[in-house]
Amino acid sequence: MNKSIYDVIIIGAGPAGLTAALYASRGNMKTLIIERGIYGGQMQKTEEIENYPAFKKILGPELSQQMYDHAIHFGAEYVYGIVSSIKEEGLYKKVIASDKEYITKTIIIAAGADYKKLGVSGEKEFAGRGVSYCAVCDGAFFRGKEIVVIGGGDSAVEEANYLTKFADRVTIIHRKDKLKAQQILQNRVLNNPKIDIIWNTVVENINGIDKVSNLKIKNLKNNEINHFNCDGIFIYVGMNPLSNPFKELGITNPAGCIPTDEKMETKVKGIYAAGDIREKYLRQVITASGDGSIAAQSAQHYVEELDEKLKSLK
Ligand code: FAD
Ligand code: NAP
Repeated sequence: MNKSIYDVIIIGAGPAGLTAALYASRGNMKTLIIERGIYGGQMQKTEEIENYPAFKKILGPELSQQMYDHAIHFGAEYVYGIVSSIKEEGLYKKVIASDKEYITKTIIIAAGADYKKLGVSGEKEFAGRGVSYCAVCDGAFFRGKEIVVIGGGDSAVEEANYLTKFADRVTIIHRKDKLKAQQILQNRVLNNPKIDIIWNTVVENINGIDKVSNLKIKNLKNNEINHFNCDGIFIYVGMNPLSNPFKELGITNPAGCIPTDEKMETKVKGIYAAGDIREKYLRQVITASGDGSIAAQSAQHYVEELDEKLKSLK
């Protein structure tokens, strides 16, 4: 067998990809993980995780390191690369990543999701100068400052709470009159004396000279316009699946997510999806890991069948 043919290539090293790599390599499959950034995925941008079983509280980067070490321990290979497309290559598949090509029998797509943008004027211009999508990365720059958090989901609410470690005051601006975050997270912000909430309101634009200094905001109930002074704005309005490189395979839904069956198989035989990129009910570290384990097991069965077929063709 040509040594350069992988049994499985895993695209993305978040919890879905790293768990898939652990299962695949422990199952003796020749496994390659291709990652365009740093292993851990969104966990690297999370301060504390307190709903991953066996850890009452663990730092996101620490859980990332442990999952990576665990996958590598069983022999998975890891390379840097930005996957741009996948092609069928006879009975094999080809993955193109940063001008390199890799041949494999199966693929697990675990490319996750990225932050949605608000799409208002000033957002692009002030990115890194008061506009941020990552409290863990940028929170410490706002010691003693006044900041705004946009959104009402788990990310906005959890990160608003975290940002009070640094900022004097955190104001959540939310377009509805209630939060959609888990109740336990809501209770924390509602009981945090450093947090205010402005309801039924959206940001119309972000203003400043060198850096953010105020926001034009609009109340959606009475259309009243106001200007809100602040030093920074953290935007948490949801996530987009990172599925562009896979669209030509015809495996994505209109929202860009990848539907699978319960074995994590996509519409294309031998190509699996796991984690946040899937069409699914709950996007969490534990569910991403669960998907990854199932995808690896399914890929293993596919490889066993393919190996039989290849043997009979010899
Ligand atoms: P990701 O973690 O997104 O990883 C995908 C990886 O694929 C990334 O490393 C990315 O760089 C890589 N990639 C993407 N495209 C390519 C490409 N073309 N080529 C190569 N590599 C690529 N969940 C919890 O359970 N508990 C929490 O406390 C929690 N807190 C959170 C806090 C925040 C701020 C956020 C944003 C999310 C939080 N989550 C939490 C959700 C959780 O982090 C995600 O559900 C989980 O990380 C999804 O895992 P994944 O492996 O599917 O994708
Ligand atoms: P989300 O659940 O999609 O919430 C996005 C929030 O932003 C919603 O409140 C939404 O308002 C608001 N919003 C969307 N577009 C907007 C716009 N253009 N202008 C103003 N507000 C806008 O996204 P998320 O909070 O990033 O969570 C993503 C996933 O990660 C979820 O599955 C979540 O459970 C998971 N996560 C889990 C944890 C944890 O378990 N501790 C922590 C973080 C994230 P509406 O309320 O009106 O829809």
